[in-house]
Amino acid sequence: MPRPLRVAIVGAGPAGIYAADALLKSEVAAEPGVSIDLFERMPAPFGLIRYGVAPDHPRIKGIVTALHQVLDKPQIRLFGNVDYPNDISLDDLRAFYDAVIFSTGATADRELRIPGIDLDGSYGAADFVSWYDGHPDVPRTWPLEAEKVAVLGVGNVALDVARVLAKTADELLPTEIPPNVYDGLKANKAVEIHVFGRRGPAQAKFSPMELRELDHSPNIEVIVDPEDIDYYA
Ligand SMILES: Cc1cc2nc3c(=O)[nH]c(=O)nc-3n(C[C@H](O)[C@H](O)[C@H](O)COP(=O)(O)OP(=O)(O)OC[C@H]3O[C@@H](n4cnc5c(N)ncnc54)[C@H](O)[C@@H]3O)c2cc1C
Repeated sequence: MPRPLRVAIVGAGPAGIYAADALLKSEVAAEPGVSIDLFERMPAPFGLIRYGVAPDHPRIKGIVTALHQVLDKPQIRLFGNVDYPNDISLDDLRAFYDAVIFSTGATADRELRIPGIDLDGSYGAADFVSWYDGHPDVPRTWPLEAEKVAVLGVGNVALDVARVLAKTADELLPTEIPPNVYDGLKANKAVEIHVFGRRGPAQAKFSPMELRELDHSPNIEVIVDPEDIDYYA
């Protein structure tokens, strides 16, 4: 009887786990069968769903339930605290597996080349997001001392950051923010948050849901000037 196909997947975020799920639903799962090992750098799986998605997005965070069901399948093993290539090399993987899938995501900020970017008080969103999502690699405290904050970029992450800064700590209390983040946000001094985009609102990349969510806060009133939505290519 042929042995099952052995597959290694590096990175247990949604891409890695859905890749495992797809393999289990493929023809090879029936014959000859498939056995999958997931190697994850962090102690726990789910990647940016755990450490990126904003805490006040419970519906998105909720996909961990579906991902968990995949990980519960007997053909899958998860090895946490395994950092490729420091703990396991490609040669190791090639020696023991028929195929290797890399799904390590994009965890670092892209370099922003503008004057002053290295000055004190300038941070990449990945670090701030990691802090409010309780990522174990970042410090437990964040200096929320600025009264005026500029957020550069108009994607969903920019709106996440602006929203977390604009909401009160108590509004986020029902979410899964850790106690150190609650305490940090309680001391947040920000009273003005400006989100800067290169072009006009019509070209902004965030989805309408992110903007609408700002309006759910009792402290925030969203006012849209129809003239701002004119499209300038
Ligand atoms: C701040 C932020 C907010 C977001 N909010 C939303 C949202 O509201 N809704 C939405 O749909 N999407 C959101 N996204 C996008 C979503 O999180 C990503 O599209 C999704 O997580 C990408 O999945 P992935 O598996 O490719 O990568 P990741 O989620 O990054 O997973 C990669 C995994 O690989 C692991 N890994 C990395 N390097 C190694 C290594 N060398 N060895 C072993 N393991 C490694 C990582 O620890 C991680 O667990 C957001 C993203 C960010 C950054």
